[in-house]
Amino acid sequence: MNLAYPIIQLINLDSKSLIGILVWGNFILGIIIYLYELTSKYKFNYHSLIYNMVTIRFLSAFGYFCLFSRDYSPNIFSVNIGNSLLYLCFYLDSSMLLKITDHYNKRIFIVETVILCLSLFIFNLLEMLYHDASLRIAISSIIIFTLFLPVTILLLTSKHTGKFKKAAGFIYIFLLISLIPRTIEGIVGKIVSLETSNYYQTFLFGSLILLMITNVIIYLLFMKEKTDNIVEKMACYDRLTDVMNRHNFFATGKYIFEKCQKLNDSLSLLFLDIDFFKSINDYYGHKFGDEVLVRFADMLKKSIRPSDICCRYGGEEFVVLTNVNEDECKSMAVRILSETENICIESQPDFHMTVSIGCVTEIPGTDETLEDFIDKADKVMYKSKQDGRNRITVHKDTPNCI
Ligand code: GH3
Ligand code: MG
Ligand code: MG
Repeated sequence: MNLAYPIIQLINLDSKSLIGILVWGNFILGIIIYLYELTSKYKFNYHSLIYNMVTIRFLSAFGYFCLFSRDYSPNIFSVNIGNSLLYLCFYLDSSMLLKITDHYNKRIFIVETVILCLSLFIFNLLEMLYHDASLRIAISSIIIFTLFLPVTILLLTSKHTGKFKKAAGFIYIFLLISLIPRTIEGIVGKIVSLETSNYYQTFLFGSLILLMITNVIIYLLFMKEKTDNIVEKMACYDRLTDVMNRHNFFATGKYIFEKCQKLNDSLSLLFLDIDFFKSINDYYGHKFGDEVLVRFADMLKKSIRPSDICCRYGGEEFVVLTNVNEDECKSMAVRILSETENICIESQPDFHMTVSIGCVTEIPGTDETLEDFIDKADKVMYKSKQDGRNRITVHKDTPNCI
């Protein structure tokens, strides 16, 4: 058995076939991405990016086809149009990757655009003047290197670079390295045409195939991640106020409740109900009522600690669950009561609002549930209402009004 020969063959593939794979690969990936968009249930704003991606894949397929047709088509088609299109696609591909990974900014846009314009000009000028295949190989290698260099540096050096983005950065490095010997070989005239097959050519076209696949995978994973985030947000958070919804509150609160049960720790729950909210809606309008809910929720988010949770329990009812003792719970309630009175909405300077609060603090009993806690706090909140609103009632065996 002699494996040396097939291994050598593996790193010395036929260049024309590799370009053929790039034609088919880009074309098929373009169709796959388009079908992904067609069958996707959720249509969010950034899905317009999908059409850019599909366009880049089809343009790339066409660009590689121009190169592939070298012996059978005029130079203007196979050299000028083919290479120019591919430079444009490399530029668009790397911009897209930077956008997806949140690295895109005005500076990088200017740098990449200048590189692209210079590349198109220099390549076509030299082609017109010299019309030399080796020189063309060297120049196009330098151009691809320059186009991909800023992306590679950004992907590898950015602080926010996650594992996956780093992996993409390494594939770019692989591609950049593959371009160096090819440039030298082009200059010394060893690669005499695009279809010359040798290690350097295999290395480059292999990297381009890898890059084509990686870009698409990153792109599809990004789409899935974004969609998952949005769906999760919709399922778990109240759309108007951006605090947890009731379903998420019970799921998360259960863990806190059970932890306190196990550790014999005290747990507090505040039930808050905005006073005369119906009249606010009737007097100022429903839209203003929504604004009031948002401002109240913002105030609540600021009033609680990161380990506390708060949710919109119903229309104008909110609940806060916090792992504190009775005194701390009371002072939190007092703070919320006064912050509520301080809420000021610019469009209605005379507007004034209050809230009624019910608090319960206990070490949860073994047979108790979070629902029981809410029930107790809700009952004492009603006591606050009955006693004149804008006050706090603490649950005791006999409720205690502050
Ligand atoms: P109380 O002081 O006794 O709590 O009286 P209230 O008017 O606050 O309570 P009530 O339960 O009578 O009215 C609650 C109102 O909240 C009725 C409903 O139209 C309004 N509401 C519920 N959800 C929303 C919402 O998302 N936006 C707006 N603007 N209003 C809402
Ligand atoms: Mg209510
Ligand atoms: Mg109310």
